[in-house]
Amino acid sequence: MHTIEQLNDGRNVFLNGQRVNVADVPIFRKTLALNNRYYDLQKSNPAVHTYQENGRTYDIAFKVPRTVDDLRQKHQAYQEIAQSNYGMLGRTPDFLNTAMAVLAERSAFLGHNQYTDFGENAKHYAQWIKENDIFISHALQNPALDRTKAINAIPSGYAGVHVLERNDRGIVVSGAKMVNTMAPIADDLLVFNPPELLLEKGDTSYAVAFATPLNTPGIKVICRKLLDHPGYTEDDYPLSNALDEIDAYIVFDHAFIPWEKVFVENDVEMSNRFFIESGMFIHTSHQDEVRGITKLEFATSLAIRTAKLLGLDGFLGVQEKLGRLTDNLELIKGTISRSETEGHLDEFGIYTPSEQALLAVRSTLPEYFETAMKAAQHFSAGSAVGVPGWAEFSGENGPILERALATDRATAQERAKLLNLVFDLTTAGFGQRQLMYEYYHGGDPMRIRSMHYPHEDLTDGNAMLDRLLK
Ligand SMILES: Cc1cc2nc3c(=O)[nH]c(=O)nc-3n(C[C@H](O)[C@H](O)[C@H](O)COP(=O)(O)OP(=O)(O)OC[C@H]3O[C@@H](n4cnc5c(N)ncnc54)[C@H](O)[C@@H]3O)c2cc1C
Repeated sequence: MHTIEQLNDGRNVFLNGQRVNVADVPIFRKTLALNNRYYDLQKSNPAVHTYQENGRTYDIAFKVPRTVDDLRQKHQAYQEIAQSNYGMLGRTPDFLNTAMAVLAERSAFLGHNQYTDFGENAKHYAQWIKENDIFISHALQNPALDRTKAINAIPSGYAGVHVLERNDRGIVVSGAKMVNTMAPIADDLLVFNPPELLLEKGDTSYAVAFATPLNTPGIKVICRKLLDHPGYTEDDYPLSNALDEIDAYIVFDHAFIPWEKVFVENDVEMSNRFFIESGMFIHTSHQDEVRGITKLEFATSLAIRTAKLLGLDGFLGVQEKLGRLTDNLELIKGTISRSETEGHLDEFGIYTPSEQALLAVRSTLPEYFETAMKAAQHFSAGSAVGVPGWAEFSGENGPILERALATDRATAQERAKLLNLVFDLTTAGFGQRQLMYEYYHGGDPMRIRSMHYPHEDLTDGNAMLDRLLK
């Protein structure tokens, strides 16, 4: 765990045209403090959040699951971590730490070249992360400059990250990655490619995977615009003024990466296999979807609380809408449980959740989250946009507002705060980014679905069809 001051480590973080010290950006400070609850939970609830290995205590995310109960314990830990930030931080350390556990076990397939053993590098890196509780962020997706072209056909060289030169010490890379959530406040960056790298003319320079500290010379972290509202309080913007899981565009300019941090180089096939075959994809998906349910549960509760606050919950049509939200929540929770109980032991003896069940959650949860958001937004309607700034309550208008906005169900301030939360999550930039996150952070739902049905076990369905059609 690091403090925000420790991140003043020479990293090149840019915000709104200026190079910044991340400790000077108030919303980064708050976000890191929330992120660090991951470490606090290891102390306050060690029975769930830690495990023992060779006489040492580690965070549970690093445990290689061997049984369904291991997976369930990890589930509980992920859930409590997500609850500490209302499910709004998608890339807390548990996301990639669970990947490190399986990468260490499965890395031998990465092979070697004349300079280094990639499998050993991945194993040592994962061990180092575990022993030092390094916080990693990841940059996988290449910039969408022109998806009709191979990335090496885009002449600027910024359609991915590519190797410029190699020597007996390591590689020198340049290029860019499109979105890297949490990069400004993480320690390390894990760079790899999505599984279908499109390259032409035998160019393998973009086929690379490596890790590097975020303060490596030659790396620039260029942040998107912030979503908080300086000048207003957390009562006005309960979420967006409390956290911003900042996303950034990453530029590499002749960054040197020593061989011991390189896991794939000059090898398109390995680049394509890296995310899936390492086990990282499936195990991060488990963490990711547990976090997703937590957020869905938060949004569902918010919609129900809003309907009650505004006295709408007596109407049958509203009740039906609320029942739809709780149906959706149950379906998602049930499918996550199914992913755990229907898991299998892989060839390394790692208990692996059902991919079909997890992918069903991944492609569906964004729609359910949007439905819950929309319900809260529509229930609140004009009430949410009519909430005055919180400072009015302590100004000359305070006594009027306290009488005018109070109801049988809530004081003026209780009502205003809940409606502010609805506005923040459903209407303000923060909520819209959260919605985008759910749809796209784990890949395009359209593609996930299109790859889902060919892998579904429909033995029984097909047998019935065959019997009837014979
Ligand atoms: C908030 C947020 C945080 C993220 N954080 C990270 C991160 O930390 N690290 C990281 O590596 N990535 C991150 N991502 C990026 C994420 O991995 C990608 O956005 C995601 O994989 C989708 O890829 P894309 O954006 O290139 O969209 P594309 O795949 O280019 O798709 C864009 C749109 O075009 C449509 N489309 C594409 N092809 C077709 C077609 N053939 N027919 C019809 N429609 C098509 C898609 O359906 C989609 O609507 C993040 C994204 C978001 C939104």
